[in-house]
Amino acid sequence: MALLTLSDVTVRFGNREAARTALDAVDLEIAEHEIVCVLGPSGSGKSTLLRVVAGLLEPAGGRVLLDGADQSGTPVHRRGVGLMFQDHQLFPQHDVGGNVAFGLRMRGLPREERARRVAELLDLVGLPGAEPRAIAALSGGEQQRVALARALAPRPRLLMLDEPLGQLDRGLRERLVVELRGLFGRLGTTVLAVTHDQGEAFALADRVVVMRDGRIAQTGTPLEVWQRPASAFVARFLGFDNVVAATVQGGADGFADTVWGRLPVPAGSAGGEHTVLVRPAGVRLTDPAEGLRCTVEARTFRGSRVALLLRPDSGPVLEAECGLRDAPDEGATVGVTFAVEDVVVLAGDGRPARPVQAAAKQSSRTR
Ligand code: ADP
Repeated sequence: MALLTLSDVTVRFGNREAARTALDAVDLEIAEHEIVCVLGPSGSGKSTLLRVVAGLLEPAGGRVLLDGADQSGTPVHRRGVGLMFQDHQLFPQHDVGGNVAFGLRMRGLPREERARRVAELLDLVGLPGAEPRAIAALSGGEQQRVALARALAPRPRLLMLDEPLGQLDRGLRERLVVELRGLFGRLGTTVLAVTHDQGEAFALADRVVVMRDGRIAQTGTPLEVWQRPASAFVARFLGFDNVVAATVQGGADGFADTVWGRLPVPAGSAGGEHTVLVRPAGVRLTDPAEGLRCTVEARTFRGSRVALLLRPDSGPVLEAECGLRDAPDEGATVGVTFAVEDVVVLAGDGRPARPVQAAAKQSSRTR
């Protein structure tokens, strides 16, 4: 059985005339020990999702189940979930030990046991012996670790993180995210995290959930979502910009006709009018006499690879990448061909029309 189940959960803000649907009939299941990251642009409903699971918000419709038990009417502190929010809200008047012990004191744990558990947790997050330190004297990364130790202390069955590393600089974030994944794996913690940073989500999660306007746009392992974004929205959100309208001919030797010319598509692609994504790795440079003629508009060194911006004779700019030694000069003319393994036929972003009955059911529930 899933540890957490959201079934048809809807949350609205504001009164009926000016109501805003922050979550729109969301279904989601999280298995025990799973690390799930909810990803999406600002305003897509990520925090609302966390708050409704925590019990800080009651849904207008639908149900939240933990271990199969309906949580409606169960207050935050009875749900057995740990919360770590963006600004990590440590108590500046308490020292590190006092902060980590907070949830344990609330539960009435005896003093010695509390001290032992606090020491254990500080070890775990890489701050052994930090009990007497003042919060104000800690770096941002250390504060983040203390907040994490505090959230883990009561052994929550579900740990929820809201932009856990949002305030930190990139280098530290990249290091911490790897540490966190290792830590959660060792402890067997079930995690529901939200972030707007896809790098963070992809590094942390077993499964990512991409949200758009209060609905789930795609869910899958990081690899699945990266390899096969479900829609142009997801592709663009992941930072892929080579997205173009196409008339697709399916079948064994399928192809897509676009403003960039004819592209090969993977076998089994659906035919018809679609959008097509070409990952930059699939934009191959050749002799200008072959393929699509482009001018190199910009090139950016990215470690061992070079990102290129190509202006074709027709159609929107193309992003490509190549090795350092193969990088053409800015202003050079190159030819482009497309590699089928980096072409993805995307589903339309048109939302399926809601069945009338379901829409009626929903509006009656929220009155
Ligand atoms: P995210 O976390 O993805 O940035 P939120 O869950 O915070 O998104 O917000 C989803 C939508 O709900 C947004 O349109 C936001 O403006 C709205 N919203 C969130 N909280 C409130 C609130 N307390 N009152 C009114 N509208 C809200």
